[in-house]
Amino acid sequence: MDNLSRGYREAVPEDLLRVMDTQDTERLAKLLADERIDAVIHFAAYMSVGESTQVPELYFQNNVSGSLSLFEAMLQAGVKHIVFSSTAAAYGIPERVPITEDEPYAPINPYGESKVMVEKILAWLDRYRGLRSIPLRYFNACGAEPEAGLGERHDPETHLIPLILRAIRIGKPVTLFGDDYPTPDGTCIRDYIHVSDLAEAHILAVEYLLNGGASGAFNVGTGSGHSVKEVVTAVERVTGKKVPHTIGPRREGDPPSLVADSQKLQRTLGWRPKRTDLDRIVSDAWEFAQKGNS
Ligand code: UDP
Repeated sequence: MDNLSRGYREAVPEDLLRVMDTQDTERLAKLLADERIDAVIHFAAYMSVGESTQVPELYFQNNVSGSLSLFEAMLQAGVKHIVFSSTAAAYGIPERVPITEDEPYAPINPYGESKVMVEKILAWLDRYRGLRSIPLRYFNACGAEPEAGLGERHDPETHLIPLILRAIRIGKPVTLFGDDYPTPDGTCIRDYIHVSDLAEAHILAVEYLLNGGASGAFNVGTGSGHSVKEVVTAVERVTGKKVPHTIGPRREGDPPSLVADSQKLQRTLGWRPKRTDLDRIVSDAWEFAQKGNS
């Protein structure tokens, strides 16, 4: 289900789509019961850090109230398993990198806080209502499934790889946010994870819960980081084109380095990222972008 406020009707098979809102507890409970749903994968949230600082109430309304409404519907319908899209933003500016799941919650923006709130609600619902949950803390989701016509389509786009690819297509420079960070080349380091590897983690998490696995959060990242300049170089290598870019000031709230320790996911769920190569990520995103997207 999707309320299509930010999603695209054509991204899912028409006969499988139910248009409704997470806040509509009654309709959700009916859907879950009618379709005899075993487990929920909950992606229905807003995800722009910048927007969350402008209108925090929107993020708490949609991300927190919407989630709570969904959980109520699940409890009403007797559905006891959920995989939830969480985020590395739950850690804020972490003390230690690579980041393990026991790093404390320290969000520095309303988006991250909204996800932490939902993780905490889930922990209580696990304890007192038997609702088993796996929050997956995404690092930098990217890449595409160009053959399926699926890729990043945000409006406005704020993410690095689609913005670099757009800069090539329209010939206007992308701004790199700061080159004076305490990193080897001065630009921020992130853990870029191909969306298809990320998707696989969800399937494994559902199977784990259905097989009686316990609740708990998992990082989803590759365990290796790339700087913004390395991403630019990878794009130039893959596309054979120069990336027009300028160096701008730092973006507020950007930690110098965010890299996942994903050993828990690998050990517990048997997950292995298959598309860790930055060039593969970029070439899938480029193929998608060339089909007229973003
Ligand atoms: N970034 C940048 N220019 C842009 C967008 C992003 O230099 O126009 C940098 C950003 O500062 C961060 C990295 O690229 O270090 C990844 O940013 P993105 O917004 O894609 O994901 P985030 O790390 O914020 O989740």
